[in-house]
Amino acid sequence: MSGSTTTTATVCVAGCGPAGAVLGLLLARAGIEVVVLEKHADFLRDFRGDTVHPSTLEVLDELGLAGRFLELPHHKVSTVGFVRDGRRLDVADFSALGLKYPYIAFVPQWDLLHLLVSEAARHPNFRLLLQAEAYELLREDGRITGVRFRTPDGEQQVRAHLTVAADGRHSAVRRAAGLRPREFGAPMDVLQFRISRRDTDPDEGYHLRMAGGRSVAVINRGSYWNIAYMIRKGGYDDLRRAGIQPLRDDVAGLVGFLSDRVGELTGFDDTRFLEVRLDRLRRWHAPGLLAIGDAAHAMSPIAGVGINLAVQDAVAAANLLTERLRRTQDTGEPIPGRVTAAVRRRRWVPTVATQGLQRTAQRFGIDRALRGQAAPDYSAIAKLPFVRTLMSRLLGVGVRPEHVRVPAAPPRGQGR
Ligand SMILES: Cc1cc2nc3c(=O)[nH]c(=O)nc-3n(C[C@H](O)[C@H](O)[C@H](O)COP(=O)(O)OP(=O)(O)OC[C@H]3O[C@@H](n4cnc5c(N)ncnc54)[C@H](O)[C@@H]3O)c2cc1C
Repeated sequence: MSGSTTTTATVCVAGCGPAGAVLGLLLARAGIEVVVLEKHADFLRDFRGDTVHPSTLEVLDELGLAGRFLELPHHKVSTVGFVRDGRRLDVADFSALGLKYPYIAFVPQWDLLHLLVSEAARHPNFRLLLQAEAYELLREDGRITGVRFRTPDGEQQVRAHLTVAADGRHSAVRRAAGLRPREFGAPMDVLQFRISRRDTDPDEGYHLRMAGGRSVAVINRGSYWNIAYMIRKGGYDDLRRAGIQPLRDDVAGLVGFLSDRVGELTGFDDTRFLEVRLDRLRRWHAPGLLAIGDAAHAMSPIAGVGINLAVQDAVAAANLLTERLRRTQDTGEPIPGRVTAAVRRRRWVPTVATQGLQRTAQRFGIDRALRGQAAPDYSAIAKLPFVRTLMSRLLGVGVRPEHVRVPAAPPRGQGR
């Protein structure tokens, strides 16, 4: 990290999740000076989602990264469904869509982020500052002109023509800009923990299992299963009061092959509580600022599409802003609000449509299931060929998929 207290850049991106990492890479490779701030010291956290959908695989392909990505340890899943009361129901099958990558790749998100930032670091105009937590905005004449951030060495600032809030669903930058999202609510939160994996366990990347008002998503991480156990919103204190055994029993009941080792869960200290939110900003920009990814529209975990939407926002932002940013970089002219507003216009329909699907699933599936009410049986509808094709396209490709249109400036050294 630089010893000086002020860094300058054309763009400062707060947050190095999928949205911030992809935007940082795209801008740096196009020759824009970009600083990305990440509050953590690394990317190694289990709560990051792992699903890389066909549309994101295409983006990686367009960036020349698909080969390196697919060398990472991963599981491919070409159908999406769930097991309810012991019966499996597939709602999407990507193999019939004629896609270049007809599957979801399950890859630990830290591997994806490492790949993106190591590629970005090949460009001299990319800087990633770790342990750099944005907390306040710089302002001049009514415009946002950068960010103040905390580091272990003290407070510093980045001065930038454009500040991008990519700091996730609790975005401090969006809050500092006075942008308030409309909340849609979610009926659940998630408790996440690990249970060891054995060679005799199923070789699947992902299971979602529901029965008797309980549901878990089980993700294969090689040596262990990463478990996301859904709890009713507001039900966490009751769960803790009941003690660890009922939680172990639920996991054993839902995922039979884990029943011999649920005892690895010794107490709630082995678990992590994750708040689920579903919200959306009406305006994603302010003078000198743009919000993308969960900072603009927090996604529920349903269908595991939040990462992909965040990546698509970043691609759209780079496509729409790069030319204008080059001019600003050369002349110092501010970026007009209509240019940043175009990102929201472009991404509004995909965001509203995807959140609409998640809200429907929350209301008619998860909410009822968590209340112990029988959810309606949609299996006959889900099996209709056109419904399956529609769901496959919505989940795999999304509404209005984005493609990388910004050409690359030559990277540092050569050897691409
Ligand atoms: C329990 C749960 C499970 C989920 N599972 C999946 C899944 O399997 N697949 C899927 O596609 N989506 C999933 N989602 C949704 C997905 O996590 C988000 O939609 C996606 O991560 C959004 O990406 P992002 O880059 O916008 O934000 P984030 O991934 O939240 O990244 C924000 C980054 O900013 C950093 N940051 C935060 N504040 C600051 C600050 N002040 N200064 C600097 N840095 C900061 C954070 O450390 C983080 O690295 C899940 C959501 C939840 C709640």
